[in-house]
Amino acid sequence: MQQNVDPPKAALFHGTDLPWSFVAIDETLKNDDCAVIKAEACTLCSSDIHTVMGRRVSPTPSVLGHEAIGRVIKLPSEWTLIDVQGKPIEIGQRLVWGVAASCGECLFCQNAITQKCTKLVKYGHNVHQIGQTPRGGFSERIEIVRGTPVVGLSKEIPAAMACLAACAGSTVAAVLRMAGDMRQKHVLVYGGGVLGVIACRMSKSLGAENVICIEPDQIRRQRAIPFGATHAIDPKSDDLNQILKSLAHNGFGADYAFEFSGATSAFESAINSVRTGGKIVLAGAVFPAAAIAIEPEQIVRRMLTIQGLHNYSAIDLQSAVAFLEAEFRESPEVWEMLAGESFPIDEIQLAFDWAAANSGVRAIISMQK
Ligand SMILES: [Zn+2]
Ligand SMILES: [Zn+2]
Repeated sequence: MQQNVDPPKAALFHGTDLPWSFVAIDETLKNDDCAVIKAEACTLCSSDIHTVMGRRVSPTPSVLGHEAIGRVIKLPSEWTLIDVQGKPIEIGQRLVWGVAASCGECLFCQNAITQKCTKLVKYGHNVHQIGQTPRGGFSERIEIVRGTPVVGLSKEIPAAMACLAACAGSTVAAVLRMAGDMRQKHVLVYGGGVLGVIACRMSKSLGAENVICIEPDQIRRQRAIPFGATHAIDPKSDDLNQILKSLAHNGFGADYAFEFSGATSAFESAINSVRTGGKIVLAGAVFPAAAIAIEPEQIVRRMLTIQGLHNYSAIDLQSAVAFLEAEFRESPEVWEMLAGESFPIDEIQLAFDWAAANSGVRAIISMQK
């Protein structure tokens, strides 16, 4: 009988323009303080692409990847791995986990922003310690530490969709949670990338009346419509205020604006386009950009709320999984539009090359072992 004796492996990132290497994972390692996942797949999030392209600094060597799913093959002996609703996880269960683990006790955890925990452990960002089971998604085994939010997945949902829950889907869920009640609302979504279209779809499914996606790229604009946008407009040529006049509250403006593009022009547009008492949630500006002038009087007189959102909390992971599972049952064909090429882990450089040339969809690394 032939047996495959190669141990599972992880892809190590050493820096932009440097070749990846592969490190074998020693499965005899005993770390009773962690759960171990047999990875199924990990999608390439834009922030990973920025890291690999050198636009974002990350310590090396590291195992990148934070939109991963897999099955539990080892449970910690020193604590009980539970899902975000408190239910114990069983061996073999298919799971998605959050981008970070938090302590639950510090100032930020106590104030419901666990993603800013003072003892935060982030997945897919830290230096890989030789001899340790990796904590990044581009690995066939992944270590899960205490304080990590985890949510069970159905057997049916495709990996390409389920992986989205770990970063993009949960971030959008957090943005919408910050906005509040979506019913009958008029919503602006700046950016038609993966987060933008998820926001269009989630806003509509939560009862928004009009969802206007503002996106310069024509292909992404067209895609926003099947994802639930009632309007998809070009910021260079379409007059947003004119459209709002005909749609929203007799011309008073949009209730909410969600910013995913990171463009300062989008933020300026959002300030000018929400109604008195409106809310703007910014999630896209994760890179340094030029400062813009804001008149404090505008914020006061128009009673605007401007909020930033970075990453998300456990509750958002739960919402994202519930949303994606429901979407998979109702309209899987829409979500196939976000699924890019699939690559084995050995071809991780090819996967990043493909992803860099095909923004707006998710390349996926499918694990074999
Ligand atoms: Zn904390
Ligand atoms: Zn991400």
